[in-house]
Amino acid sequence: MNWPQDSPLKWILVSVILLNMPLRPIQVFPAARAAASSQLPSNPQVRTALDWFAPHRSWIDDEQARLTEIPAPSFQEAERAAAVKVLLSAVGLEVSTDKAGNVIGTLRGSSEKEVVIISAHLDTVFPAGTEVKVHREKKRMSAPGISDNGTGLAALVAVARAIHEARIQPQRTIVFAANVGEEGEGNLRGMRALMDAYRDRLKAVLVLDGSSIDHVTTKALASRRVEVVITGPGGHSWSDFGIPNPINALVRSAVRFINTRVPTTPRTTFNLGQIEGGTSVNSVPHEARLKVDLRSESEDELIRLESALRESVGAGIRDEMEASRDRSKGKLEWKLDLLGSRPGGELSPNSPLLAALRAADEFVGNQSRQERASTDANIPLSLGIDAISIGAGGNGGGAHSLQEWYEPEGRETGLQRVLLTLLGTTGVAAEKTR
Ligand SMILES: [Zn+2]
Repeated sequence: MNWPQDSPLKWILVSVILLNMPLRPIQVFPAARAAASSQLPSNPQVRTALDWFAPHRSWIDDEQARLTEIPAPSFQEAERAAAVKVLLSAVGLEVSTDKAGNVIGTLRGSSEKEVVIISAHLDTVFPAGTEVKVHREKKRMSAPGISDNGTGLAALVAVARAIHEARIQPQRTIVFAANVGEEGEGNLRGMRALMDAYRDRLKAVLVLDGSSIDHVTTKALASRRVEVVITGPGGHSWSDFGIPNPINALVRSAVRFINTRVPTTPRTTFNLGQIEGGTSVNSVPHEARLKVDLRSESEDELIRLESALRESVGAGIRDEMEASRDRSKGKLEWKLDLLGSRPGGELSPNSPLLAALRAADEFVGNQSRQERASTDANIPLSLGIDAISIGAGGNGGGAHSLQEWYEPEGRETGLQRVLLTLLGTTGVAAEKTR
């Protein structure tokens, strides 16, 4: 538990009070944390950090543009990572790059036993060769990736710098992470690596993604992407007629599966998205493939849906084998390959992290609604670790399109919100006596 400006006497009093309280920490702890968070802005060092953003707006905007102009498709983030590494090193952090390619800058807290991660993903959905030059026109910057996640990366660096300039030492250690692999087939690999490294000491994860501050992602949308692969002997359409046909089996399986009933609450969806197979119209194919996207607000429903898919394919194969009249050339084989899996999870409404965000919202005069989405926060949430994903301020639009844009006007509000949420979660160590 963290209290700014501790005195030994206060500690003793607090300890005595807490020890004599009935064991209901879920109610006691967030209230205490929220109280601590709401006092943060009166700390002169925190005030200095909060005031750092506005006069340095053009520096933050310029760094955002510069980072956006370094291409960073998922799995090719190294060059942009190197640029972020320089920026984080310049503000006195111990910086390293892990095996996955994440850039990690550490600011040691007065208690190194507890860690809070603040992260922004490096990667974009745009393939290598996409024109990523930033066009500036009046108040608007336009380029693929400028907001998602140029805004998050610029904020990560700006918050690190504001804390450095204000000489703040947190109570918990802060890990500033520019992580790889958030988008698509990256499958959250960067965040997974961070969990492997810090899980034992990790108290919370604050993910910065995009611009909007009108919502906070507290619920992780679970999804699975799978590929059904069916193989068989293959042959001639006329002379081998009657041998088991993988496309027939796939069609039989698919018809069974799409009749699966899914609930509207919790919202659960499936999509047969891509189908492939065969080599020519007059050949019995030796292979058929189907890519399926499964999503649900409930992890249980997702598991149910995935097993419905397995059962459908198993039954489709049996149907085709039973219907075939020549099994001498071989039988059908099938497998289900996992292309990607994003586990679900939900932040507790009593989470100290959420209390810190609420206190920050109140300070900057913002209101934000809770939403469910698929973000880097999925991974910690699925492990029972407090995590949220928030935008870092300003306005943006057209994410994942070539027309993506960002307007930095008012971004300092978002940056202050990030800073206060972070420090509300880490606590601030008392200033060292000199
Ligand atoms: Zn993003």
